[in-house]
Amino acid sequence: MKDCNCIFCKIAGGEIPAATLYEDEGFRVILDVNPASKGHCLILPKEHYANLFEIPAELLQRAAVVAKKLAPKLTGGLHASGLNVVQNNGESAGQTVPHFHIHLIPRYDGDNMKLGWIPGKLTEADRDEILGCFKAD
Ligand code: AMP
Ligand code: ZN
Repeated sequence: MKDCNCIFCKIAGGEIPAATLYEDEGFRVILDVNPASKGHCLILPKEHYANLFEIPAELLQRAAVVAKKLAPKLTGGLHASGLNVVQNNGESAGQTVPHFHIHLIPRYDGDNMKLGWIPGKLTEADRDEILGCFKAD
């Protein structure tokens, strides 16, 4: 499946060049053009799925295996001390390119990168509402 107007379909398919760290029949891994840190890269499936809700479970599993394969090489090669794995779904979650992708973001001791949230407090009402969503019918 391919979306003709999708930049990541074009990059993953090799139509638009990108700095490629890894490629197999299902995926291309490229350097992010606006990296959060040195080595920030993106795992792109070659098939177009907009997000986590659309991607088939089997392809998602394979993407996780690619992340697992690249993580030590990426961090070891760059002497990073940590790695964030980030995956955004929907504009409200910060997704800017609607083609499923996983960010691998190497982290370095003392880097001042901002990634995260201000911790809240789980209220009883929220807890009950959320647990209610997961109760069997
Ligand atoms: P997200 O906000 O999760 O959708 O992430 C999209 C990412 O794609 C951002 O980090 C962008 O910097 C990156 N990006 C957008 N266009 C390109 C491109 N042509 N080549 C490489 N990275 C890109
Ligand atoms: Zn696409």
